[in-house]
Amino acid sequence: MGRKTAILLGLLAVCLLAGLLLKTILGKEEKTEYREEIFAMDTVMSFSAYGKQAEKAVGETVRRMRELEALYSTERAGSDVARLNAAGSAEVSPEVLALVDVSKEVWEATGGAFDCTVYPLMRLWGFPEKEYRVPAEAEIAEALALVDASRILTEGSTVTLGEGQAVDFGGIGKGFASAEAMRVFRECGVKSGLVSLGGNVQVLGTKPDGSDWRIGIRDPKSGGSKLVLSVKDCCVITSGGYERFFEADGRTYIHILDPETGRPVENELASVSVISGDAARADALSTALFVMGYEKGSAWWQEHAGECQIVWIFEDGNVALTEGLSERYEMKGTGEVQVLGRP
Ligand code: ADP
Ligand code: MG
Repeated sequence: MGRKTAILLGLLAVCLLAGLLLKTILGKEEKTEYREEIFAMDTVMSFSAYGKQAEKAVGETVRRMRELEALYSTERAGSDVARLNAAGSAEVSPEVLALVDVSKEVWEATGGAFDCTVYPLMRLWGFPEKEYRVPAEAEIAEALALVDASRILTEGSTVTLGEGQAVDFGGIGKGFASAEAMRVFRECGVKSGLVSLGGNVQVLGTKPDGSDWRIGIRDPKSGGSKLVLSVKDCCVITSGGYERFFEADGRTYIHILDPETGRPVENELASVSVISGDAARADALSTALFVMGYEKGSAWWQEHAGECQIVWIFEDGNVALTEGLSERYEMKGTGEVQVLGRP
């Protein structure tokens, strides 16, 4: 071996070593997690991001959540939504305009099962102030007459409600916020992260090691995981009656109302989870699918298959899920699983 060859080989070895070292350092960096938990929109939110930009991304996201909360809140005087409800017509921010648009779309797509004008009814049942009561039939009928999202008109950035109407974005706001969190993560250069907004989860990319995220869906009865989904780049958004409800005269009244009857939903479902890439829509859909019950909801999915995947957990502990999830779930709790295919 000549001297030149020896030097070249030596250089090559040094380069290889340096490369290896760099890869280890960078690899570690990609796996560095930054996590923060806050209380906003009446729920616990947690944000986890990985990589060099993680801390910055989480910080910006938290700020963004506070901004959104200040716009959406029905209870905070001066918020866009509070102003709109008080005056019946108001100029609103693009964020609230987007909520109105998606709400109207999902109202249309679900035959009115999702209706953001249920607020007068929510008040009647005492949900916003947590001063629960069972209203009289006549009161329900009166408030029900105000429920109809098609009466909301938008022109430019001005939203006008129908006479006597009031809106509540509790069924869609967290999904919209979750999508915003992902947008901020991406903008900050984060490629891997997970956010949970009151149990509604959304993940960005894969886990830092390239494998799928494993997201548990809660067992409404035990509080543990009923099943675990292996997913990437999507949200898993759940609606159920088990988190917010009250009891009176031996009956349970949940915080999801049926816009047809004006009463809390009572059906065979314990929860519905929607898995998709569009969290705002998924949030509204999970509420609507809960209202619809399994029979209508499964028929709805067969017509709209492709737009999302769904997990239904029944009161009796059994589970139904759509075929796109058939290779992606692992049961943790007990119960039978039925896979819903396309027609
Ligand atoms: P959570 O807020 O517990 O995640 P949901 O996403 O299902 O649950 O939203 C429930 C909230 O949506 C209620 O607190 C109320 O503000 C609102 N809401 C209740 N019923 C309806 C409905 N039929 N359509 C639209 N929004 C609703
Ligand atoms: Mg919802």
